[in-house]
Amino acid sequence: MRNYGRDKVAFLDRDGVINEAPGGCGYVTAWAQFRFLDGALDALRALKGKGYRLVVVTNQQGIGKGLMGVDALEAIHRKLRARCARHGAVIDGIFFCPHLASDGCDCRKPRPGLIRQAVQELGLDLDLGRSWLIGDSPRDIEAGAAAGLNTLLIGSVSGAAPHPAASAVAPSLADAVQLL
Ligand SMILES: [Mg+2]
Ligand SMILES: [Zn+2]
Repeated sequence: MRNYGRDKVAFLDRDGVINEAPGGCGYVTAWAQFRFLDGALDALRALKGKGYRLVVVTNQQGIGKGLMGVDALEAIHRKLRARCARHGAVIDGIFFCPHLASDGCDCRKPRPGLIRQAVQELGLDLDLGRSWLIGDSPRDIEAGAAAGLNTLLIGSVSGAAPHPAASAVAPSLADAVQLL
């Protein structure tokens, strides 16, 4: 990946960034359970307005656990894409890792395989200096850093220090947009 490509991309984790993270070890297994976080749709539109391409990269181990089928996940993602598009925030791609942590695949974050897959399948010419990975877990930040991206951790700004590898921290996607 080159440093001065043409594409400015925001790689976004899904749960806890765009929508409410399901409680406990749960998974969003149907669109009826999908709840956008406050301001997330506006934030996605604002990112698009700033020239970012939007790519979702999400670990969905619930598939590997047999709690949800690939068809169900893809149905949720079709609804997500349609809702975002109606709001003026067309999503360029959604990539998921269906594997178990114990599978040792290359696509489960903290590995950067999903990001690489997105770059390849969408034919992205990344401008690494101006592209970001935005996530709410250290796993996301590690994956983004491994791919050479700037990283932004969604989390509490006060109190705990940001994850050492994160370039920036913001309490929500809506706040994050102001920093990008
Ligand atoms: Mg998350
Ligand atoms: Zn995987």
